Amino acid sequence: MNLNFSHKELQFQDEVRQFLAENLPTNIIEGTANNGSVFVEKDIALEWQAILVKKGWAVPQWPLEHGGTDWTPTQKYIFSKECYHAGAPMLIPLGLLMLAPVIMAFGSDQQKAEYLPKILSGEHYWCQGYSEPGAGSDLASLKLKAESDGDHYIVNGSKIWTTHAHLADHIFCLVRTDSSGKPQHGISFLLIDMAAPGVIVKPIITMAGDHEVNQVFFDNVRVPVSNRIGEENKGWSYAKYLLEFERGGGFNSDRIRHELNHLRQLIADAKTNDPQFDRHGDIERQVARVEIDLKALEITELRILSSVSGGSTPGPESSIMKLTATHLEQSINEIAVDVLGYDGFVMDPIPKGNPVRANYRNAIVPRYLNNRAASIFGGSQEIQRNIIAKMVLGL
Ligand SMILES: Cc1cc2nc3c(=O)[nH]c(=O)nc-3n(C[C@H](O)[C@H](O)[C@H](O)COP(=O)(O)OP(=O)(O)OC[C@H]3O[C@@H](n4cnc5c(N)ncnc54)[C@H](O)[C@@H]3O)c2cc1C
Repeated sequence: MNLNFSHKELQFQDEVRQFLAENLPTNIIEGTANNGSVFVEKDIALEWQAILVKKGWAVPQWPLEHGGTDWTPTQKYIFSKECYHAGAPMLIPLGLLMLAPVIMAFGSDQQKAEYLPKILSGEHYWCQGYSEPGAGSDLASLKLKAESDGDHYIVNGSKIWTTHAHLADHIFCLVRTDSSGKPQHGISFLLIDMAAPGVIVKPIITMAGDHEVNQVFFDNVRVPVSNRIGEENKGWSYAKYLLEFERGGGFNSDRIRHELNHLRQLIADAKTNDPQFDRHGDIERQVARVEIDLKALEITELRILSSVSGGSTPGPESSIMKLTATHLEQSINEIAVDVLGYDGFVMDPIPKGNPVRANYRNAIVPRYLNNRAASIFGGSQEIQRNIIAKMVLGL
């Protein structure tokens, strides 16, 4: 395992740094720092996406033929690291990094030509319709019904916790096309236009005051059979393929280090204002604990990078990364709220559309509240531990 970058890789790092210095606008940096939600504002994400598309760097993970890059895994790692370091936002992955790989692997030529350019340009903004009331961790028990009617399906039922459904123009859905066999059989993967008659989106307001997730109802929605990805009743294998990208898609340590730097600044400000602040060093000890765990995550990521560069896939390590990253982010959020103290009570209600807040300080409490959900979305912490117990520890 060689953890040092080569001369060529260091040159690439310089090229990325220069591009970011010249092309990452201040409003995007501020919007990212002040964001209290899982994803940054749609407008900010799309503005940054357009800049990256122009450069050809929006989706390094995609193959060159569809507008991606031919970068090595190490170059992709360097790019991601430098973007976070410069304060750039994560692009919203729902279409770009979750649906697109499924279309590339299992979609028809017509679907590839129709959807991939629109996902890349941002013309199509997607949401993910997997979970249902009663089908989350146990996803295979989903019930959203799609009945065949000539060259259409008639879809009835609902999806829940659908992030950004109120902003999306399309949804990719797992639907039940057959109930006769094992639950994993009889699931199909459908692409649905949110403007289709019978699609109704109802907001779910989180305890952070955000409108981020929704319940989506389908009332006799007609969907062309040509919108189905792959074969009927084979959707479970496409769904699992997508989840590999949702859970294992990306490195987190630099995003977390960026947050830790904000926290350090917050602590420094508190000390300037009050020389007695943290006089027993409790906060410093907690920060040191985070620093140690973050170093361990960084090394784990480099180890995974090293094996991916050698041709293997991340495997169950992505569960370890999700667990650790969530724990670290939530720890940083908790310490930041402690540092704020009574000031944490002064949280303005968040106006509709989550406009950019005035400064990072105002995002601390919303971020703390919002990030509790990281223990659940993308597969809960308990489910990740089950995977580690089975696949790593052989229990
Ligand atoms: C903020 C947020 C955004 C989301 N966005 C989306 C989205 O865009 N699209 C989408 O489809 N879904 C989305 N989800 C849904 C998410 O994937 C599910 O909430 C998650 O899979 C858990 O399912 P559940 O809520 O039904 O809880 P359940 O599966 O009912 O789990 C309840 C509790 O039981 C535990 N548990 C369940 N099974 C086991 C087991 N076998 N062993 C040990 N413990 C277990 C869980 O860990 C959890 O603590 C989102 C969720 C949140 C919170």
